[in-house]
Amino acid sequence: MGNSDTALAGISEVDRAVPQKVDVVLIGAGFAGLYAHHKFREIGLAAFGFEAAPDIGGTWFWNRYPGARCDVESLDYTYSFSPELLDEWRWSERFATQPEILQYANFVADRFDLRREIAFDTRVTAAEYDEAANEWVVRTDRGDIVRSHYLVSAVGSLSLPKAPEITGLDKFAGRWVQTGAWPREPVDVAGKRVAVIGTGSSGIQSIPILAEQAAHLTVFQRTPNYSVPAHNGPVDAAYEAQVRADYAEHCRQNRRTKGGVPSRINTGLSAMEVSEEERRARFEQAWGFGTFSLQAVFRDITSNEQSNAAAAAFVHDKIRSAVKDPAIAEKLIPKTFPFGTKRLCLDTNYYATFNRDNVELVDIRETPIEGITRAGIRTTEREYPFDLIVFATGFDAITGPLLALNITGEGGRKLRDEWKDGPQSYLGLMIAGFPNLFTVNGPSSPSVLANMLQTIEHHVEWIADCIDHMEKNGLARVDADSDAQVAWAHEVANMAAKTLYTKADSWYMGANVPGKPRVFLMYIGGFDRYVDRCEAIVSEGYTGFRFTPVAGDSAPGQSSVVWTGAHSQGTRF
Ligand SMILES: Cc1cc2nc3c(=O)[nH]c(=O)nc-3n(C[C@H](O)[C@H](O)[C@H](O)COP(=O)(O)OP(=O)(O)OC[C@H]3O[C@@H](n4cnc5c(N)ncnc54)[C@H](O)[C@@H]3O)c2cc1C
Repeated sequence: MGNSDTALAGISEVDRAVPQKVDVVLIGAGFAGLYAHHKFREIGLAAFGFEAAPDIGGTWFWNRYPGARCDVESLDYTYSFSPELLDEWRWSERFATQPEILQYANFVADRFDLRREIAFDTRVTAAEYDEAANEWVVRTDRGDIVRSHYLVSAVGSLSLPKAPEITGLDKFAGRWVQTGAWPREPVDVAGKRVAVIGTGSSGIQSIPILAEQAAHLTVFQRTPNYSVPAHNGPVDAAYEAQVRADYAEHCRQNRRTKGGVPSRINTGLSAMEVSEEERRARFEQAWGFGTFSLQAVFRDITSNEQSNAAAAAFVHDKIRSAVKDPAIAEKLIPKTFPFGTKRLCLDTNYYATFNRDNVELVDIRETPIEGITRAGIRTTEREYPFDLIVFATGFDAITGPLLALNITGEGGRKLRDEWKDGPQSYLGLMIAGFPNLFTVNGPSSPSVLANMLQTIEHHVEWIADCIDHMEKNGLARVDADSDAQVAWAHEVANMAAKTLYTKADSWYMGANVPGKPRVFLMYIGGFDRYVDRCEAIVSEGYTGFRFTPVAGDSAPGQSSVVWTGAHSQGTRF
């Protein structure tokens, strides 16, 4: 077994030594995978990772499009597990750019030496549970076969870009790119006729910048989205000093909030229990503050229809005042779903970009795209010639990257079959019938609804603690109880049903991928409540999890790694 005879372009055999057997196989080297490598090393496990990209960074490796940046404030979009790390890193902007976030990921990887147990440029193509051995057998697109006691997926929630679904792309004589897999070398936009298809977050971040560079930019919009101004700029020195006075405590407090970020201007009130003047003033304050505060300034914006309508009307007015041409403004105003029930976008000059002479908006509900031609894009109205087409068409979110792993669990059950009517998972951490498989930010956890550096740290720590508990107590196998899983799924669905989120055709609901079951994919009860729940479950003795003391190949508590081939004989982590 092993892959020692595989020809590896540009990578030496020694660099890519892949073990035959380890304690944990870890898939993905974004922020989740990186922290998991650190954490597992800390508890003495031999972990080995696979990453499809040629380097670390995940989201921030792949999404290099102009304007890509975080929209959780940089001071919060930060690992909190190491006080030294908090001290040693300085962010330059309130919302850091993709290059700076990638630099941060690299800084962390170097600081903790996290690259050495990862095979890059390697995609996991299948994982099968071998019941007799109580091991996972993991296969890659480079022929590797690795066995492990535990399998941890850190494949990300937004890591599988949707393939362009428009016919004729192969005929296009120009160049096309996807925001979610943007090339590493610069894409030449200057003086070009550029199309952007899609007006989700990536489209909204990139359109203003592409418009400044391109000769002409045409935006193809199917559904207008709500966007609020980010008010980006340098990190506010006074606020930073306040946070840094006790940064670790600031991060701990974030874990006690609904969204994993500080509630700096939230009132905790219903929008309907204040006067119209106060409501307007609070909305103005939130609009001026930036972040997701317009969604959170009142507690019931996404659960009460009247409160929601008030917030929506407020944003509609803002769009009308930003866009000079009233007809274009009307096209940009979202009217088909409640405010905030699709991922709210943060922008810099998005709506004002449509005042530029070189920018055109095509509403493809009015004039649908028929196909891509050699020259450009043909709608039912006319053909538009382009040099470059940018697909900002989103991701097969949350479940897509997990299903792409082709996982087979106990008794030959396929994850794809188990999830054909929608994902089932206990706490988003484990899936019944798939023992010793853990998922970071799996479906039915808060994941994308909160600051993901927080959700990642919480999940990685929970998983590491659970494995540590097993290793120390002679427990070789853990599985989620299927009844507990069903109960959790009901709770997650019932909570979503009490909100307005289920009324939108969003990627939160799986609605952007043809054939995907229409299910709300996250736990919406709040990150704070979720953390409490996970802690209570552990302190009650891991309610809903089943542990089995099966004898395995390696005794519990003893880290093991087995290599094949000439390299690394006898090496241990
Ligand atoms: C443009 C953009 C902006 C965002 N902004 C924010 C923000 O402001 N705040 C926030 O909280 N979140 C944001 N997110 C979400 C972001 O994904 C998370 O914050 C975080 O980076 C996720 O880290 P991760 O390690 O879980 O996943 P990822 O960063 O997605 O990493 C997963 C890795 O797994 C690899 N992988 C997947 N499948 C396989 C396989 N089969 N084999 C091998 N490797 C595999 C991928 O190549 C990828 O590198 C944003 C996402 C995008 C796309």
